[in-house]
Amino acid sequence: MIIKHNEPLAKYTTYKIGGTARELLIPESADDILTIAREYLNSENSGAAVHNKSGKRLIILGGGSNTLFSDGPVDAAVIKIGAPLDKLSIVDCVELRAEAGAPFAKVARTACSAGLTGLEWACGIPGTVGGVAVGNAGAFGGCTADVVKSVTVAYPGGFRELNNEQCGFTYRGSIFSERWKMEDGRWMEKGRGVITAVTFVLERGDKAEIEERINRYAALRRGRQPSGFSAGSVFKNAQCSTFNSQLIPAGLLLDHAGLKGARIGGAYISPKHANFIINDGTARFSDVKDLIEYAASVVWLKYGVRLETEIKIIES
Ligand SMILES: Cc1cc2nc3c(=O)[nH]c(=O)nc-3n(C[C@H](O)[C@H](O)[C@H](O)COP(=O)(O)OP(=O)(O)OC[C@H]3O[C@@H](n4cnc5c(N)ncnc54)[C@H](O)[C@@H]3O)c2cc1C
Repeated sequence: MIIKHNEPLAKYTTYKIGGTARELLIPESADDILTIAREYLNSENSGAAVHNKSGKRLIILGGGSNTLFSDGPVDAAVIKIGAPLDKLSIVDCVELRAEAGAPFAKVARTACSAGLTGLEWACGIPGTVGGVAVGNAGAFGGCTADVVKSVTVAYPGGFRELNNEQCGFTYRGSIFSERWKMEDGRWMEKGRGVITAVTFVLERGDKAEIEERINRYAALRRGRQPSGFSAGSVFKNAQCSTFNSQLIPAGLLLDHAGLKGARIGGAYISPKHANFIINDGTARFSDVKDLIEYAASVVWLKYGVRLETEIKIIES
């Protein structure tokens, strides 16, 4: 296991914002993850950002493409699951097993090369396999839950394989992402354990057709999404009575509320896609957070809808 001290977190997130982690732990094997799980998690509330019985806090980080860290020192150990744990293998012809640190887009491309269909929508998602399972990432009508066969998780007691149903997938969530407010006001993640691998179950398909779908989705993404430092969609889609109580894209509500281009400090709402807040390279954590709160309050006043963030905000 690689251990770094006082490591700047900004370089591990797509927002390029974040203070220093007291300790950054980079596991090189699933057993390294188990060692960390044993040190930091306890059976009552083990999960994605927890304090163990002795008060030591652990934050789990994959690709950092859905995470916003605060600027100050983060008094926690951060476990960064990435490159050393990124192996893929095809098993039983239609199953693809990927370690948690593998880029999800690489999994999708590997499936395509093997003539397996089911993951074409995933090619432009910048997260890791662990991160996409936690948030049930999705796009173009597909989502992670549709193709997960099982998830391997490290608990203090050892490894466990959870089937799809046991993962409790919901819209942009799973048992690994739920959280609740503790008496002292801090948020405690509810998910149990650290994901070490995911097995996807796909179908055999026509390679040319799979490639055509991937290219079509990539073109749609280029047309709709802005470039720059962001964490993708900031808010989850929400039900709105103005629109027959249907699930409405948060971007549409933000756009209709006139928020495109709104700016605080170095953070602004993309004129191309209102659900993207971009760091222009100078944004501080407070710029992004204040803009999130401002945008949510404008939508609340206009539509009576309380937008919930899709991105994970981790304050020191
Ligand atoms: C340009 C851009 C486009 C995007 N497009 C989409 C899109 O189309 N659809 C979509 O759904 N999302 C999209 N996203 C958001 C993001 O890529 C996804 O949410 C992705 O699933 C996050 O994965 P990650 O590894 O980066 O997670 P991180 O940000 O590292 O972590 C996210 C959460 O997962 C937890 N976590 C991470 N790894 C593990 C693990 N191994 N075990 C337990 N917990 C873990 C973390 O603690 C955290 O709570 C986009 C982001 C960007 C920047």
